[in-house]
Amino acid sequence: MMRQYELVERVSRYNPNTDEALLNKAYVYAMQKHGSQTRASGDPYFSHPLEVAAILTDMKLDDATVAVALLHDTIEDTDATRAEIDKLFGEEIGKLVDGLTKIKRLDLESRKAKQAENFRKLLLAIADDVRVLLVKLADRLHNMRTLHHMPEHKRGRIAEETMEIYAPLAGRMGMQEVREELEDISFETLYPEAFETIKERLGQLREKNQSLIADIETDLQERLAARGITAEVSGREKRPYSIFRKMQQKSLGFEQLSDIYGFRIIVTTVEACYRVLGVVHTAWPCVPGRFKDYISTPKQNDYRSIHTTVVGPKRQRVELQVRTYAMHRINENGIAAHALYKDGVTGGRDISQLSTDSRAYAWLRSTIDMLSQGDTPEEFLEHTKLELFHDQVFCFTPKGRLIALPKGATPIDFAYAVHTDIGNTCVGCKVNGHITSLVTELNNGDEVEVVRSQAQTPPPAWENIAVTGKARAAIRRATRASAKKQYGGLGKHILERAFERCEKHFVEAELEPYLAHFDKETTQDLIVAVGRGEVSASSVLTTLYPDAETDGIAERAVEVLPAGSASEGWFEVSEGASVKFKIPEAGNESANSLPIRGLTNSLPVRFAPNGGAVPGDRIVGILSPDVGITIYPIQSPDLKEFDDQPDRWLDVRWDIDPDAPERFPAQISVFAVNEPGSLATITKVISDCSGNIDNLKMIRQASDFHEMLIDLEVWDLKHLNRILNHLRSKPNVSKAVRVNG
Ligand code: MN
Repeated sequence: MMRQYELVERVSRYNPNTDEALLNKAYVYAMQKHGSQTRASGDPYFSHPLEVAAILTDMKLDDATVAVALLHDTIEDTDATRAEIDKLFGEEIGKLVDGLTKIKRLDLESRKAKQAENFRKLLLAIADDVRVLLVKLADRLHNMRTLHHMPEHKRGRIAEETMEIYAPLAGRMGMQEVREELEDISFETLYPEAFETIKERLGQLREKNQSLIADIETDLQERLAARGITAEVSGREKRPYSIFRKMQQKSLGFEQLSDIYGFRIIVTTVEACYRVLGVVHTAWPCVPGRFKDYISTPKQNDYRSIHTTVVGPKRQRVELQVRTYAMHRINENGIAAHALYKDGVTGGRDISQLSTDSRAYAWLRSTIDMLSQGDTPEEFLEHTKLELFHDQVFCFTPKGRLIALPKGATPIDFAYAVHTDIGNTCVGCKVNGHITSLVTELNNGDEVEVVRSQAQTPPPAWENIAVTGKARAAIRRATRASAKKQYGGLGKHILERAFERCEKHFVEAELEPYLAHFDKETTQDLIVAVGRGEVSASSVLTTLYPDAETDGIAERAVEVLPAGSASEGWFEVSEGASVKFKIPEAGNESANSLPIRGLTNSLPVRFAPNGGAVPGDRIVGILSPDVGITIYPIQSPDLKEFDDQPDRWLDVRWDIDPDAPERFPAQISVFAVNEPGSLATITKVISDCSGNIDNLKMIRQASDFHEMLIDLEVWDLKHLNRILNHLRSKPNVSKAVRVNG
């Protein structure tokens, strides 16, 4: 364990004006507070804050940051209080330790769904002072270095969180060294086999290419020296995680990865960087598309360097990075290096000065500002597109609640993510104020408003549209429940009708004694089975009344089509089987079917009495004990009446045979000027458009205009709209609209 004087020495090496008393006081205080506490490794707990402080001295940070590192776990893990720390070390340090305490509490609940929220809180916790983040990253780095001491079941979660939040954040802050080490340890923990394989291969390659790195280093050095350029050249293997990521991104095998080696050439001036580039490109052919000049255009995290890939002396592709010493310091240590570079060796630096120099810090600052000012969500997201969010989209409820979803998620997933009830009653949505299809893929920043109807049950086909497990499971559950309800309603009706024909009265309770016979547990199960067509109504009837005359009663209420003949997800009963029903016309047993799928053959069907329904309308069937099934266009206001009776709603749709077109009923209301020939004009327009008039009723006849209701027969919605448009184009027609459609 590092001694007190050793720590002070480390700091005074880069900061001669260091406040030794402060460091000593923090050292003693933290050591006493942690007392006999130990870590998972068995080491005294105090060794941890001490190591964190050491990491920060490597980054050459100021006294306050080093002191905070020593104190960072005292409030959370010992009897130390914020007030006490304020009193002993001043409010600046107290505030920093407090920020770290807040972040530590966050770590406890880092589940996937909470990531966005956690990330937000993390940024807010570091809002006042970026040093909180620096200490936090050093804290995490030491915890990762000692992760193997943790119980195995805890390692995965910590490594995952590191990979998803802390490593990208370190990268975003330009701290490449910290990022790479965090990534490699997480990688080794999360994918031990992949890590070992890559390490082994790297070892083999090292064996084979033994002197390759040294040879290229020498070669480069000599060529540069010949041109009078003094440069520091160093070669290295890429890090295991960086190789793994490349293999994944490009779907390449290890052998196909050509640039395992990277070389850094560090020079004193920017001008020298470009001269180096000239030397390199003259000596070896460069690989097209690999040249990048981050000196003229720095990365958002302040990274500056020239990148190029060449085919080197041994036909080996090598990546070269050319930079100055000043750039290198910032490339490796990001905002931490910035702090030092800006303020030289004086302690107590003013963090706000960073903002003028550091793009990474400016990014952090503006992100935090937006969070605290509650700026627009779009802007917030635009600025927080970190690597950790790449496979996620972030959307908002109209009240501004953030909902994180996997990429590819639809408004259906969104609805279920908000609440299962909202998903189950979702019938439509508005995205950014516009009515949008429920199958639309959501984008970052979208505001999604879910349109709900209590009458809705989620269609089974949604299961294939939703991408979240939560939505899928809920849809499956709801469909099963609703299918059961629907079949229950159908079954009951079928039984009632069958009993009626034999002049019996159907009473559910009377099924009770026969449940075992049908191998059912409840009377409802039996009724559902009848609805599904698994049990025929006549068999129920003859079981209860062996003498009953069952001729003329359909053996099966429904005809189950073989799997595959049904269209996608439509009124699905179970694995692949969907149900097709045929309907006899009222009073006529010869099954003359309506071209609508999803109906039972034992129930009469009619179109909505007010307004009808035509192909092109989205339709639903409403089951009524007295009239059978009535088909309504989904937008019909008459449907409101059934809103609270979801079990009466049947999912139906058109099944038109294009070779045998039929006409369908629709009703229109027309206001026309009361003048000679007006009515004739209207009927002529309709017949010119080849519409049939079934009935015409004068509703009002005033001295200046008529209102009339016309029952039409049309081919489909397009045909109906054509008629309406032609009517509206006539000067004597003031209004022509569809009724309830
Ligand atoms: Mn700690």
